[in-house]
Amino acid sequence: MVNDNNPSTFEGRFYNKKALKLKILDLIRNKGMITKQEIAKELGINITTVSELINQFYNKYNVIKETGNGNSSGGRKPKLYSINNELGYIIGIDVGGTNTRGILTDLAGNIIRYIKIKTKASEGKEAVLAKIFSLTSDLISLSDIPKEKFFGIGMSISGIINSFEGISIFCPNIPGWENLPIKKIMEEKFKIPVCIDDSVRCAAVAEKRFGIAKDHDNFIFISIGKGIGMGAFIDGKIYRGSMGLAGELGHITVSEDGPLCNCGNKGCLEAIASGPGILRRAREGIENGIVTSISKEINKNFENLSVEIISKAANEGDKFAYYLINRTGEYIGIAIAAALNLFGCDLVVLWGGILECGDIILDAIKRTVKMRALEFISKRVRIEKTAIGDNIAALGAAQTFIDKLYSDSDYNILVKSQK
Ligand SMILES: [Zn+2]
Repeated sequence: MVNDNNPSTFEGRFYNKKALKLKILDLIRNKGMITKQEIAKELGINITTVSELINQFYNKYNVIKETGNGNSSGGRKPKLYSINNELGYIIGIDVGGTNTRGILTDLAGNIIRYIKIKTKASEGKEAVLAKIFSLTSDLISLSDIPKEKFFGIGMSISGIINSFEGISIFCPNIPGWENLPIKKIMEEKFKIPVCIDDSVRCAAVAEKRFGIAKDHDNFIFISIGKGIGMGAFIDGKIYRGSMGLAGELGHITVSEDGPLCNCGNKGCLEAIASGPGILRRAREGIENGIVTSISKEINKNFENLSVEIISKAANEGDKFAYYLINRTGEYIGIAIAAALNLFGCDLVVLWGGILECGDIILDAIKRTVKMRALEFISKRVRIEKTAIGDNIAALGAAQTFIDKLYSDSDYNILVKSQK
């Protein structure tokens, strides 16, 4: 057996043969299809080395396939190679406060099956876990794919997630999911590798692979819904920090004596500008006697209050509703400007239900960023809403697992198959 981890003089600039293999596979998947000659040229290595490794990938591991011929510079047309995306399949699960979505994808992230169920978080820790088990089992059993072709499960959870250890540290949407070792629980149940991450970081990974950020190595992805979070891509990689949880933009202080946040701090962005934050500010205003069409709309029952009602009133010209939404955008803009000054990237992608408030909120965000971020940055930055649909976090969870297959940690799963 060849030990790929031994340092060798193999194409000197790579530390070892495995690093070179990963580099080649990554190049093939990013290009879609490529010839041996192009690989050699792109990586600056000799064609004999490329041929040897390509033959291994093709004949021994079945991880690539031939996909026609490339252009010839005289003589026989060279063969094109692409990843054999049907080699293995991944399950992506997004556990949200309201819905849980499950998808089955191939190695390119193409969605083959999709299931959506109600999370019913109020039923508690065990009930939610049982639902996830049955959703996962359904995705496996409803397909005719052999069990050994399921390479792994990627999970996305909204909350504070330690992605390295696979633990849900704090999950405001699901009672009892504090310090829950969800990776271990899922691996014991399904006997395949599992990775977990926060839903925003997962969605950012999907945005990088399939969305507006495809050609951007540096961007920030921000979710604004029941909570507020951020996924930052730095030099082409999602940034997780040393504790696997970086990007908690919702818990930076934007108002020193502001309302209490569920993290324990006061005046966090999330306590003010998330969905629940907007509702709380609306209620306070109405209780203090502010005249607004919202009062009539909810019939004096605050149970009826929703962001949709406030947004509709704002778009119809209600002054208080407009103030609420506009102010929300300004608070979010302050935080984004700070993040932009820190990361210095030229793209911000936004995701989440609060953006349904339309132009009022988006304009306020853009205006505030222009006002508060460094001029050099604010003149160049693009702020856009994501165009990927409701599957974004599940897709990103699956993609997070797929990306691991092309890294040192899980490469052995990718090359386990034999022809
Ligand atoms: Zn907080």
